[in-house]
Amino acid sequence: ADTAMYREKAARMGAPARFMHPRELSIDTALHGAVGRGEITTHFQPQFDVRSNTITDVEALARWRNPELGDVSPVEFIPIAEKNGVIHEIGLEVFRQSCALARDSLASGHPVAVSVNVPVIQLMERGFVDAITAVIAAHAIPANLVKIELTESQHLTDVPQIIARLQGIRDLGIGVSLDDFGTGNTSLIELYDLPLTELKIDRAFIQKDGPVGEALISGLVDMAHQIGLEVVAEGIETPHQLEIGRRLGADRLQGHHIARPIGHDDLLAWLTHFVAGDLSVG
Ligand code: C2E
Ligand code: MG
Ligand code: MG
Ligand code: MG
Repeated sequence: ADTAMYREKAARMGAPARFMHPRELSIDTALHGAVGRGEITTHFQPQFDVRSNTITDVEALARWRNPELGDVSPVEFIPIAEKNGVIHEIGLEVFRQSCALARDSLASGHPVAVSVNVPVIQLMERGFVDAITAVIAAHAIPANLVKIELTESQHLTDVPQIIARLQGIRDLGIGVSLDDFGTGNTSLIELYDLPLTELKIDRAFIQKDGPVGEALISGLVDMAHQIGLEVVAEGIETPHQLEIGRRLGADRLQGHHIARPIGHDDLLAWLTHFVAGDLSVG
């Protein structure tokens, strides 16, 4: 029976059975119903705005705690959720929790925009735009307090449809960021047509020390600014990297040196105590 289940799952996930790992099968099974069981929560990581010296935005990051599997990293479960289709349910739940955070931050007097990771497969689902529109309305927040952060694990296909879908989202007043720029599967040519508002430079760049890294970051920042995009530098872990991100002109900085991702209540409390001067600059 185990073998049959194994083969059936493997076939459904489009992989030859011999390449399936038991761990992946357990995750695949446990992901079904995880949202309904309340196992998916969202952490929020602050982004430091260089010009205003304040926290203007946060990134929403899914967290999953399962009774059998314990804490599972999104690095592990998101790709599986993309394959088995649970990503739609998880993505919408993270979007709901993000709108709730945006609403509560507004009420607390420290409003932040929440940037939600959306893979192309979720973006292109029928009903995606209607679903997020309804969630935004239910939370009575302005659409510019949420953004989507496009992530792509494969090279973009059906680019015209993706552009149309993104334009529909932009028309609602929602910003669109391109995640992991420079290491992801989206190439420079896509910048001609994708209706973006922002680029996120992958942390691999800031974490490479020396003149080559700085030249590449500086070039990406200037290019993005010339086409009217804001720039977020990810992976700021040290005072030195904070200084580089600032000096090379990134608009916002994100990383462990500023703050780690934290839960809804902790984030609201953290925002009220944040003082830019506490960020040491190397
Ligand atoms: P990402 O969107 O590029 O998110 C940034 C990741 O870098 C997060 O990992 C964050 O915790 C981590 N990070 C932040 N600052 C630093 C730093 O200074 N140094 C280092 N080394 N890492 C840092 P996390 O939360 O494990 O998420 C990993 C990836 O999983 C995300 O990468 C994103 O692609 C995906 N993901 C997370 N949440 C969601 C979600 O709700 N939906 C979808 N579709 N994908 C998600
Ligand atoms: Mg992201
Ligand atoms: Mg990223
Ligand atoms: Mg990444």
